[in-house]
Amino acid sequence: MKYLFLLIFMIPIHKVESDRWGANGHRIVAKICYDNLTEQAKKQVDELLGDHYLEQVSNWPDFIKSEKPWGFASPWHYMTISADQTLEQTIEESAKDPKINNVFEGIEAMLAILRDDPEATQSFQAIVDKNKAKLLNGSIKASALAFLIHFIGDIHQPMHVGKNRDLGGNKIEVLYFSERENLHGIWDTDMIEREKLSFTEFSAFVEKHVHSYKAEWENDPIHEWVQESIELREEIYNTLYDNTDRTTGLPSFSYNYQHDFLPKIEKRLGAAGYRAAALLNEIYK
Ligand SMILES: [Zn+2]
Ligand SMILES: [Zn+2]
Repeated sequence: MKYLFLLIFMIPIHKVESDRWGANGHRIVAKICYDNLTEQAKKQVDELLGDHYLEQVSNWPDFIKSEKPWGFASPWHYMTISADQTLEQTIEESAKDPKINNVFEGIEAMLAILRDDPEATQSFQAIVDKNKAKLLNGSIKASALAFLIHFIGDIHQPMHVGKNRDLGGNKIEVLYFSERENLHGIWDTDMIEREKLSFTEFSAFVEKHVHSYKAEWENDPIHEWVQESIELREEIYNTLYDNTDRTTGLPSFSYNYQHDFLPKIEKRLGAAGYRAAALLNEIYK
């Protein structure tokens, strides 16, 4: 634990702040989700969120990261699978510990709360009370919904299913269109922002391109989502040095990289949105 804190303080601030799908990444997932909800589910979501849109609250879990009382929720945004363990072993191991240890368990816990599971609701309420954390709309369920839509986005971001040796790519410096960035950050934010689209435009493009996968994606269990992220992550590592800058020795990404990976980012965002909608439609049927 002590070691972990040390590591966190060693990362320059801007790199910690980039530790998320950018605001638009989460909004795109939320927009695709909302557009694919049944009328019944839309009504329930609107009721829970009051004066907010799902697209807005999808970023709430990142905004509260800077609030001390919510510090306990920081590990809920990602998961680490160490090199000597399979995904199944990691899931089994962390299930032995009753608290929420990673994004996989975060999704399961938030789903359980939205499904009225008393045990999940009580243990979330207890940790919120203990830390005096302020809930979204003062509501456990509204908060669980915001966390759920956010975490489903995070788990589809391949660098959020990271390797601990480089903190999910946060410690890997790269050149992105000649700017020094870190690998995690360009996958969270820069590659999406580069397209210069609003989140509504971006989500429309994504749906146009990937809607044919919808039925197939909807039926996949959560561990399949993680498995897909791991596969894409491995592709990211395998192509890291395909184009290396001669002066700095850093991996250098520009048009080719954007061209190769943008369709894959679109698939991750689309899968996240459709899967979130399928789960909410099931809960609110
Ligand atoms: Zn991130
Ligand atoms: Zn996050």
